[in-house]
Amino acid sequence: MITLGIEGTAHTLGIGVVDSRYEVLADIREIYEPVRGIHPREASQFMSENIKKVLDAALTKADVCMGEVGLVSFSQGPGMGPCLRTIATAARALSLHYGIPILGVNHCIAHIEVGKILCGLKDPLTLYVSGGNTQILKLKEGYYRIFGETLDIGVGNMLDKFGRETDLKHPAGPKIEKLARKGARYIELPYVVKGTDLSFSGLLTSALQKTKDNPIEDVCFSLQETAFAMLTEVTERALAHLAAKEVLLTGGVGNNMRLQEMLGVMAEDHDALFDVPRGYCSDNGVMIALLGLLMHNSGIRSDISQTYVKQRFRTDTVEIKW
Ligand code: AMP
Ligand code: MG
Repeated sequence: MITLGIEGTAHTLGIGVVDSRYEVLADIREIYEPVRGIHPREASQFMSENIKKVLDAALTKADVCMGEVGLVSFSQGPGMGPCLRTIATAARALSLHYGIPILGVNHCIAHIEVGKILCGLKDPLTLYVSGGNTQILKLKEGYYRIFGETLDIGVGNMLDKFGRETDLKHPAGPKIEKLARKGARYIELPYVVKGTDLSFSGLLTSALQKTKDNPIEDVCFSLQETAFAMLTEVTERALAHLAAKEVLLTGGVGNNMRLQEMLGVMAEDHDALFDVPRGYCSDNGVMIALLGLLMHNSGIRSDISQTYVKQRFRTDTVEIKW
C-alpha cells in the first residue's frame, strides 16, 4: 500500500511517500526561513502557499498518482496551531476527495519510528532533540515513557535563540556547529542537570553575555560542549538505569557531528549500539508516512471527526500497538 505523509508542525513542509515495505519513494521538503523566530501565522501561510507544489513534486518523484495512494497520514501535533491546522486541512481534503483513509500521527513518535526503521533498532533508548523538544524516551508497557526532558526550552530552540541574537541565520544549529569547529578555548558556562531533566535558558543567557568579550568561535565551541555534555550525561544515566542495549539519536539537533560523537563514545562504554537516522533527523514527511503505515498495519483507523489537531500532543499519551 502506498502511504503519503504530510509534515508541517513548524518550519518544514514535507511530504513523503513510502510503499508497503517501508521503502522511501519520495521525500520532498520546503523550509520556511523566518526573519526573527518562527511566526506561526507566517509559517502556516508558507505551508498553504507551497502544499500544492510539494504534493505534485512528491507524487512525480514517487511515480504514483493520488488514485494509487492507500493512506494519507499527517502530523497531528505537537506543533504550532496554525501550521497544524493548515496541513490537517490539506490531509482531510485529500482523504475526502479521493476516498482515502486518513490518520493523524504524533510528530515526536514519528521521529523515533523513522530512526528505528532506518537504523534497524528494536528497543532503543532515544534522545530526541529538536527545536521545540528535548526528551529521553523508551518504550515501556505500551507507551513511550519520558525518562528525562527539558524543564524550559528545547536544545534546538536554545541554539536558534543564540543565533538570533548573534546574527546567524535561522536555523542556527548548523552554523554554530561550523563555528565551534574553529573554537579552541573552553569558557565555563552554566551546566544545569537535575536528575535526568535539563534546563537550557541559563546557559543561553550566559553564552550570550560571553560573546561580548570572547571570540564567537570559542563561545560556540563552549556552548556545544556544555549543552551536549548535559545531554550525554542524562542519556547515560537513563541508559544505566534502564539497562538499554541500543541508543538512538533523532530530531534536528541529531544532525550535529559533535553530539553524535559524544553519544557514540558513551554508548560504546556501555556496550550499547548507537545509531542516527542520517538524512532523516530533521522534520520530514517520510517519518509521518512511516508511522501512519505502522499504525494502519496494527489495525488503527480514524475518521475525519478524529483528525482535529493537538498542539500539545504528549508523546506518552499514545498507546504503541505495533
Ligand atoms: P527539527 O524540528 O527536528 O527539524 O529540528 C530543528 C532544529 O535542529 C533547529 O533548532 C536547528 O537549529 C537544529 N539543527 C539542525 N541541524 C543542526 C546541527 N547540525 N547542529 C545542531 N543543531 C541543528
Ligand atoms: Mg521535529
